[in-house]
Amino acid sequence: MPLEEYLACVATSEMSSECPDTYIEAQSIVARSWMLANVEQKHVALGFDVCNDDCCQRFQGVNNLTDHSRKAARATRGKVLMYNNKIVDARYSKSCGGVMERFENLWENDPKDYMLNIPDAPGNIIVDLTSETDFKYWVLSVPVSFCSPHFIKEEELHKYLGNVDESGKYFRWKVAVSQEELVQNLNEKLRLKIKAVEVLKPLKRAGSGRLLELEISYIDVDDKKKKLIIFKDYEIRKVLHRKFLYSSAIIIEHLLNDGEDFLSGFIYHGAGWGHGAGMCQIGGLGMALAGYQTEEILYHYYPGSELSSVYK
Ligand SMILES: [Zn+2]
Ligand SMILES: [Zn+2]
Repeated sequence: MPLEEYLACVATSEMSSECPDTYIEAQSIVARSWMLANVEQKHVALGFDVCNDDCCQRFQGVNNLTDHSRKAARATRGKVLMYNNKIVDARYSKSCGGVMERFENLWENDPKDYMLNIPDAPGNIIVDLTSETDFKYWVLSVPVSFCSPHFIKEEELHKYLGNVDESGKYFRWKVAVSQEELVQNLNEKLRLKIKAVEVLKPLKRAGSGRLLELEISYIDVDDKKKKLIIFKDYEIRKVLHRKFLYSSAIIIEHLLNDGEDFLSGFIYHGAGWGHGAGMCQIGGLGMALAGYQTEEILYHYYPGSELSSVYK
């Protein structure tokens, strides 16, 4: 399939064609850069370049194309983001939750100078979400961010999102799991024999508040007390919820069970959807709606990069 045709469809599969031109342009340039940087190559063994879902980039064929989205995508033909003469590995996610994450906290230890812990907000605010107290205050509040309801109301969001996005709150959300659900998921994913989880304790956070280390204290089926540490955002999201938790930028409320030996369950209070590195799609949309230009959006999410044309 010709690359430019593919990209025009990606832009309106990732987000809807209702988005302003500046957003569709930014999304097309980011998708083109990611594709041409060709770093992840998740499906080499199967002999194809990309799949059609969130694992790579969403592609739902020509169904969602409109004249306006096609025009916006075409206007960016051949344009990519460059950093030090290399095409930017422009990963992106739905909502950073307020602060962007660093590359090396999510993937291999290969820092990218264009993926840093930067607040997704106007001005030069500094926030340090590695501290438990600061993070707790932050996740339970609604700080001004391009992806927060200050820039785009959650109830208006659905018209801008791609047609397979779940409805729900993206910037701040709450998800409950029962003791049984969590135990079942942990036993399945980690091949353990847990009877009950006693404590879920955050040990280390990255700058966006995402968890890098989580300690799980539990009692196994032989009534022995045990502990285990889960590393990395991806693994933590996988083990905490059967359907993969929206984000690991969470605090965990433990629910007591009157008169019973074990907790009845847990509530995750979270920020953002996805890994949070690179472009925050809802934030980029918030910027576009506030009148920022395509370049301003791109340079905000990939600081230090430059727009360049690699073919006409
Ligand atoms: Zn894939
Ligand atoms: Zn954001």
